[in-house]
Amino acid sequence: MAKKGIVMSGMRPTGRLHLGNYYGALEKWIELQDEYECFFGVADWHMLTTGYENTARLNEDVRDMVLDWLTAGLDPEKCVFFRQSFVPQNAELTLLLGMITPISWLENNPTYKEQLQELGKTKLSKALEGAGVISKEIRQKVAQAPLEAIKPDPKKNRLELRTSGFLSYPVMQTADIAVYGAGLVPVGQDQLPHLEISREIVRRFNGVYGDVLVEPKPIVTQNRKVPGIDSRKMSKSYGNGIDLFETVDSLSPKVMDMYTDPMKIRKDDPGHPEGCVVFAMHKLYSDFADRREVECKAGQIGCFQCKKDLLGSMDGPFAEFREKRAKYDKPGLVEEILEAGSAKARDSAEATMERVRKAMNLR
Ligand code: SF4
Repeated sequence: MAKKGIVMSGMRPTGRLHLGNYYGALEKWIELQDEYECFFGVADWHMLTTGYENTARLNEDVRDMVLDWLTAGLDPEKCVFFRQSFVPQNAELTLLLGMITPISWLENNPTYKEQLQELGKTKLSKALEGAGVISKEIRQKVAQAPLEAIKPDPKKNRLELRTSGFLSYPVMQTADIAVYGAGLVPVGQDQLPHLEISREIVRRFNGVYGDVLVEPKPIVTQNRKVPGIDSRKMSKSYGNGIDLFETVDSLSPKVMDMYTDPMKIRKDDPGHPEGCVVFAMHKLYSDFADRREVECKAGQIGCFQCKKDLLGSMDGPFAEFREKRAKYDKPGLVEEILEAGSAKARDSAEATMERVRKAMNLR
C-alpha cells in the first residue's frame, strides 16, 4: 500500500519512558507507522540544549528509550528509527537555517521564555537539594510553584541556560523536520505554536532561495492525557511518573500514593472521580471503569479497595510489556537498528541538502 506522506517526530533521550510519553506520543506514532513514511528520531542534540552538563548516561538513556519504543510496538521494518547526531546533514541545515532566522523570532518565542524559567526553577532547586540545603519534598514544592514566584539567580541562570544552542533550538527543530522532506508532524493542540515557528522559518528560507523545503503541517492528535500520581502533568522532573515497565513491587507503592478525591474520607462518602488519578488510570486499564464511576459517586466503594482493584487491572498489561522488553533486550540489537535507520535517514537528508546547497550556490 502506498504511504500517504512523510511524517517526522522525535523524543529527547531521557531513559525509560513513562505512561505520559506513551499515551502522549508513542501510541500515535505506532498508529502512523502503517499509513505514512515515518522518521522517528532520538533527539540527542536537543537533549544537549538543556542538559549539556551531564552526558554520562546518554548512550544508556538512548538504548533504554529505543528498547521501550520497540516493546511498545514501533517497528523498524515499517518506519525509520535514527539517532539525530548520526545525521550530520541535520547539523548542516541547522547552520544554514540559522543564517536566515531573525534573532527576535527566537527571543520572542514563548516556549523559550517559559522553558527558561521552568528550567531555572528545576535546576536551582535540584542544586540546592544536592547540596543538602533543601529536602526533596521542598524541591517538589518549588517545582509546583507558579513561575513568577521563583526568581533564580540571573547570573547563574544566564551562565547555565542562556546558551546559543538553547535559544536557537527552534532552528534545529526546523532542520530536523525539513531535512527529511517531512510535510507532516504529529502534535497536540497545545504544541501548535512550536510548529508554527518552523513553518515561518521554512517560508522565509523558500522566500529567499525558491521553493526548496517542504513547509510542514500539523497532524493534530487527540492524545490521551495521563496525570502523574500527584495529579500534575506526568513528568520525570516532578518525580510523579509511572514507567511503562514497572514491576509489581515498584508499581504498588505508586498506586497506593495516587491522588484521590480529598473529600472522600470514608467508604460511604460520595466521591468525585473526575480529577481522581486512580479513576483516570481505571479508564485506561479497567474494563469496569464505567461501573466504578457510578460506585464512587454513590459511596459504594472505598479508595483503598479502588486502588487495589487498579493494581489488579494494571498487573497484566505491565507483565506483558516486561516480558516483551526482555526479548528485545539483546546485546547490540538497539545499536544495529539505530545504525541501519540512521543510514536511511542520512540518504534522505543528503537528497534534501543537495537541493539546498544548489539553491544557495554553495556548490
Ligand atoms: S473511590 Fe476510586 S475513583 Fe472514587 S475517589 Fe476513591 S480512588 Fe477515586
